[in-house]
Amino acid sequence: MKGLAMLRIGEIGWIEKDKPEIGSRDALVKPLALAPCTSDIHTVWEGAIGDRHNLILGHEALGVVDEVGSEVKDFKPGDRVIVPAITPDWDDEAAQRGFSSQTTGPLGGWKFSNFKDGVFGEYFHVNLADANLAHLPEGMSLEAAVMIPDMLSTGFMGAENSNIPMGGTVAVLGIGPVGLSAIAGAKLQGAGKIFAVGTRPKAIEVAKEYGATDIISYKEGPTDEQILEATSGKGVDSVIIAGGGPDIILDAVRTAKAGSIVSNINYFGSGETLPICREGWGFGMADKDFATGLCPGGRVRMERLADIVSYGRMDPGLMATHVFHGFDKIEEALLLMKEKPRDLIKPVVIIDENM
Ligand code: NAD
Ligand code: ZN
Repeated sequence: MKGLAMLRIGEIGWIEKDKPEIGSRDALVKPLALAPCTSDIHTVWEGAIGDRHNLILGHEALGVVDEVGSEVKDFKPGDRVIVPAITPDWDDEAAQRGFSSQTTGPLGGWKFSNFKDGVFGEYFHVNLADANLAHLPEGMSLEAAVMIPDMLSTGFMGAENSNIPMGGTVAVLGIGPVGLSAIAGAKLQGAGKIFAVGTRPKAIEVAKEYGATDIISYKEGPTDEQILEATSGKGVDSVIIAGGGPDIILDAVRTAKAGSIVSNINYFGSGETLPICREGWGFGMADKDFATGLCPGGRVRMERLADIVSYGRMDPGLMATHVFHGFDKIEEALLLMKEKPRDLIKPVVIIDENM
């Protein structure tokens, strides 16, 4: 089978590999729709997780089940499925403690395109199929559904982790697809005022659609000063970081009021350490906490997110600004994600609607 792989840091290419073999509780899946992630860009072009050789990329997919192991109960060949970006080992101790994305070690629930071949192949392997796949609801648009495995799960986690009080004020720093999903999540969590920090016109349009009440351009002055001014110096109840380099943490901490949580969902792709501002953090005593997290995976999470889409709570399809057709187009879509033209939110590749 063929797949689009990271050949080494800074280089991608098409390679041939054997079809993956599955164990008794696993599934072999063919892609139905795919999306590249900004994390794929960090992985290949920043070497963010270290070097990888001939590793098939991608972790955002809908699929069609091709084969299942003898112990799989709820899925059979031909089923259309949502495949979470994160496929935990549910019997690991970290999952038992409630941190399923960190099974077998930090970020260990992230297998696709991290330490096993990802979903940009003609077939891919899914561990623990009954626990890690979800049925794709009939009639759901593929452009919308392919946002569920990572964008919705991660963005909503950002909102869930930031402990938004009913009617609370929230700032979302960075409004790519992850930050936009965080805005939608903040609204669903009961936020009142929502500041969206970003500049791209298409993203601003979707941010407003998802619930942003105020737009701040970080290119027109420091974010922290603008938000503090707009809140009469009080700051916000919750901050979600969904973009930017290390210094964005300084904006977040200065913008947060006492009792707030700075919820980071951003992937810091380079550097040894990350900064915290001593004064903005009250010299370490300001009651400003941090939360971090990796996209939650697993079947229940996917089913709940699918319900949010099915019952019209938000439409993730608005983020699919560039839609390609055909498996071979995944390379073009990935390179578009790297280039990030101003009108791009998320590229999506539909393999075949009729599969
Ligand atoms: P994106 O690049 O589309 O969006 C980030 C935006 O932030 C960009 O538009 C960028 O111009 C903007 N930005 C840069 N500096 C800024 C600043 N100082 N203030 C405000 N905005 C600023 O990326 P995305 O696809 O939305 O992903 C966001 C991040 O989330 C990436 O780092 C990605 O790797 C990460 N991610 C994390 C998880 C997770 O599980 N935690 C999952 C998926 C993606
Ligand atoms: Zn991702």
